[in-house]
Amino acid sequence: MITVAEGLVQARHAGVDRLDAQLLLGHVLGRSRSWLLANDDAALDATQQQHLRQLLTRRAGGEPLAYLVGEKEFHGLTLQVSPAVLVPRPDTETLVDWALELLRGANDPQVLDMGTGSGAIALALKHACPRARVSALDASAEALAVARGNAKRLQLDIELLQSDWWQGVGGRRFDMIVSNPPYIAEGDAHLAALQHEPVQALTSGVHGLDALGQIISGASQHLNTGAWLLLEHGHDQAAAVASLLVTAGFGEVTTRPDLSGTPRCTGGRRA
Ligand code: GLN
Repeated sequence: MITVAEGLVQARHAGVDRLDAQLLLGHVLGRSRSWLLANDDAALDATQQQHLRQLLTRRAGGEPLAYLVGEKEFHGLTLQVSPAVLVPRPDTETLVDWALELLRGANDPQVLDMGTGSGAIALALKHACPRARVSALDASAEALAVARGNAKRLQLDIELLQSDWWQGVGGRRFDMIVSNPPYIAEGDAHLAALQHEPVQALTSGVHGLDALGQIISGASQHLNTGAWLLLEHGHDQAAAVASLLVTAGFGEVTTRPDLSGTPRCTGGRRA
C-alpha cells in the first residue's frame, strides 16, 4: 500500500508534473486537490494503486490529461471529452469572449459553430447568452455524440447537425458564425506533440488554410447582412485569414490576440 504523498513521489519519478499528478490522483480517489493536500497520509488500495500507475504511464507517454480524467474546463463549463474530439484550449476562450461582446445588443440571434467537436464554443455561447439560438455542426458522428452528451448534462439547448462544413447547411442564414477549424499545416513539427488528438480536427492542407478558406468562401451565403464571421487560426495566419475575408467581401476585418498575446482570431462583417 502507498499513501497519497508516496503516489506523488511515484508520479515525479514517472516524469509527470505535480499538478497533473494531483489531478490524476484526485481522479483515482474521487477526491479534490484540496482534499489531497490535507490528506497526504491517506492510503491507496491495490486497485487504486494500479489505476494510478497506468494513468501515470499514459500521461508520461503524452496523452492529454483531459482524456485521462475524461473532462476539461472551458469558459467556466466542465466538458466531457474523449479522443474523438480536440481538447478545448484556453486560447479559444478569446473567440467566445469576442462573440459574446458582439451578441450583447442582439435579440434572439441565430449563431452557428462550425466544427464544434466537444461542443465547447457552442455550449459556452449558449450558457453565457441564453437568448441566442445556437446551432453546431461537425462532420464526425463521434464528435457530435460527445457534444450531445455535454449539452444534455449541462442542460443547454443547442441544435446539433452532422455536416462536412457547408454540405448539410442548406439555405440557412445566421446572425453570427464562429469556428475553430483545423488549421495546422500538414507536416508541421508541432503535430508530434498532438498525436493523441484527432488529426481531422488539427490539420487542413499544406498551409493549414483549407478549412478556413472553405468556411470563408461559403459564409456570405449563410450570413445575414451585417452579421459577423469569427475564426480562430494559427499564430502566423492572421494576415492570410484577413486577406481571405477581404477577398470574400467582408468588412471591418479585425484580429484579436489570445491570452499569450498571439494573434489568434480574425473576423469580419458581411456587408
Ligand atoms: N490550437 C491547437 C493547437 O495548436 C490547434 C487547434 C486547431 O487546429 N484548431 O494546439
